[in-house]
Amino acid sequence: MARIPDRLVQEILDKTDIVAVIGDHVRLTKKGGRWVGLCPFHNEKTPSLSVDPEKGLFYCFGCHKGGSAVQFLMELDKLSFPEAMETLAAKAGIPLEVEEAPSEEEKERRSLFELYERLRGTFHWFLNEHPSGREGRERLRQRGLPDELVEEFMLGYAPESRQWMHQFLMSKGYSKDFLSRSGLFAGPSRDFPIFADRLMFPIVDAKSRVIAFGGRLMHGDGPKYINSPDTLLFRKHYNLYALDKALPEIKKAGFALICEGYMDALSFHAAGVRQAVAPLGTAFTASQARLLKRWADRVFLGFDADEAGLKAAERACA
Ligand code: ZN
Repeated sequence: MARIPDRLVQEILDKTDIVAVIGDHVRLTKKGGRWVGLCPFHNEKTPSLSVDPEKGLFYCFGCHKGGSAVQFLMELDKLSFPEAMETLAAKAGIPLEVEEAPSEEEKERRSLFELYERLRGTFHWFLNEHPSGREGRERLRQRGLPDELVEEFMLGYAPESRQWMHQFLMSKGYSKDFLSRSGLFAGPSRDFPIFADRLMFPIVDAKSRVIAFGGRLMHGDGPKYINSPDTLLFRKHYNLYALDKALPEIKKAGFALICEGYMDALSFHAAGVRQAVAPLGTAFTASQARLLKRWADRVFLGFDADEAGLKAAERACA
């Protein structure tokens, strides 16, 4: 990402309402001239986070993290300084001038976002338009997921062919090298699709960008559910399925519902319980619990009541 000139940094910070920025992530209440809330950076039950709108600064009396809105976003979303400034600039309606070419890592991130976005569209097309997707569509309907929900979550189908995906992407101009790092291929020459003959569940970040996929096997042997491996874009311990859709409802209702998998979370959304999310191929983790605690007073567990699942959930919520 490009370096941002100092005067522009100042202009963006001047136009930034720190209460609005932090309020997007933490429920803040007014206390005198300041705002207070539960600190997202450490585990707590009584608010230690204090936001001073006059000075444009925050400070936590528990873990002593503090700074401006930029430091808040960098810490919270693990953003680089330019990325956090970009977010603030967009919020303040200030266009960022580009001075330098983006770094190699930033270029790679952008290319991955673009690749995942394209594939989401392709998988969705297979599910909706291609004969091979018919059975998948049927199965989703049998599970009570209406077409509107399939559209909203952009569910898809990855074809059975072991050659198609690599060839398709090579024909679109992606290099073999880039594809081998994309988290989509395995095998000795890294051209074997991880997702084949699977119902596809795009996993998106809070900005609704596709960062990974989950896939449910349709036929044959193999694990029933698999996820993308961790990549430059995806950390499975930190993300939750359906969070972008559930978040506004979780904020409104003050509670979240944790389900075991994508299908369970989608069934709840179909039934009008829009606060449902699901962990991604891991047990519910402490960092996911902390993520939800920012917005929800109560977290309900929609897990199968097996011993191991309950123990894991208890640990995560403690
Ligand atoms: Zn703290």
